[in-house]
Amino acid sequence: MSVPLFHNCHLPLRNSVSFVCKHSYSFSKQEQTQKRDGLKFIRGVKLLKDLSTWGIGGPCNHFVQVYNQTQLVSAVRYCHEHCIRFVVIGKGSNCLFDDMGFDGCVILNRIEFLETNEPGIYRVGSGFRFNKLGIKCSNEGFTGLEFAGGIPGTVGGAAYMNAGANGQETADVVDSIDIIKTDGRLQTLSKIDLNFGYRSSSFQYMEDLAAIVAVTFRLHPSGSSQKRLQEYLKRRRVSQPMGERSAGSVFQNPCHLGVAAAELIEKAGLKGFRVGGAMVSNIHANFFINFGGSTSQDMLDLLATVKEKVDQKFGIQLKEEVLYVYPYCDDLNPNRDKLTSHVIFDQGKQES
Ligand SMILES: Cc1cc2nc3c(=O)[nH]c(=O)nc-3n(C[C@H](O)[C@H](O)[C@H](O)COP(=O)(O)OP(=O)(O)OC[C@H]3O[C@@H](n4cnc5c(N)ncnc54)[C@H](O)[C@@H]3O)c2cc1C
Repeated sequence: MSVPLFHNCHLPLRNSVSFVCKHSYSFSKQEQTQKRDGLKFIRGVKLLKDLSTWGIGGPCNHFVQVYNQTQLVSAVRYCHEHCIRFVVIGKGSNCLFDDMGFDGCVILNRIEFLETNEPGIYRVGSGFRFNKLGIKCSNEGFTGLEFAGGIPGTVGGAAYMNAGANGQETADVVDSIDIIKTDGRLQTLSKIDLNFGYRSSSFQYMEDLAAIVAVTFRLHPSGSSQKRLQEYLKRRRVSQPMGERSAGSVFQNPCHLGVAAAELIEKAGLKGFRVGGAMVSNIHANFFINFGGSTSQDMLDLLATVKEKVDQKFGIQLKEEVLYVYPYCDDLNPNRDKLTSHVIFDQGKQES
């Protein structure tokens, strides 16, 4: 099977900014470490499978962890100066990486601060764990983020994806979001500046986004938030394959048709259906499991097969919720032109 043309195939690379380099770029075979501004850039050895909940993915050419905004700007600037495209990731819990890896720099976001200056107002670093935030806010008697309990991503990933569950979503409680733009400037966007939809946000289409740095949430007091959180967590425990390697729901629910993707997949008789090491969960049909040694191609083939069978049976075309990260910026990628047209900071040097 060829690389699928996901409806949102460009999304993971929207904030994977690249430059037009005159020569072809090849994956590094040797480990090299380069230090700059207190950052350690590791070349060629970091495996993406260790950075994703699916446990799938080959080496990335460059890897760096950032712990604060200054480091994030430095990392982005480094990529710019060296003509390297980059992608910022949180817990990799909504990404399918390729076994080929990523021909660029993976910036792992570890910006994990949390500030509460007023009751119910939480300003949180984008690398803060979303699950932990949901539990903390609910335990402190504030409602709006109970659904985050059990979501294994970061605050930045949740804002980017507009993560949601149980009738709540991230956008409902966003007050403002601080981002770094591709020119290196910090900008604070109010909720009214942003558009959110079902698993979508303005960030997915923002040409000049480098990264989300922090999110301010505005929550309201509630006497029942803890109870609600516990109910949601219990619901997850019985309805989702806990402890398995997954990326949550792989397809969006076709809400306009009033039916869940899981229901369609189950009714198509696909629970337990396997391709190589990838399998449709027997517990939740919209969760696909890496049950042992799944390659990225196994998972892509499973996605494509399930999609095709659901279409054949019900005439409904499912849309992927998970994001596939293209390993290369080449002809396989239909958005190549878009990707190479991004410019970051000022005119960059060509890599030599
Ligand atoms: C067991 C399980 C249960 C899940 N349950 C749910 C659920 O109930 N509801 C739901 O909506 N999702 C769910 N998910 C999916 C996933 O956890 C969410 O989409 C989550 O918000 C992704 O966060 P992340 O940090 O892992 O993002 P990643 O997977 O690391 O990245 C996702 C996208 O966001 C971008 N991104 C991440 N951080 C930043 C940043 N700081 N700046 C700019 N871009 C960024 C990445 O480039 C990428 O394009 C589940 C996943 C699993 C494994």
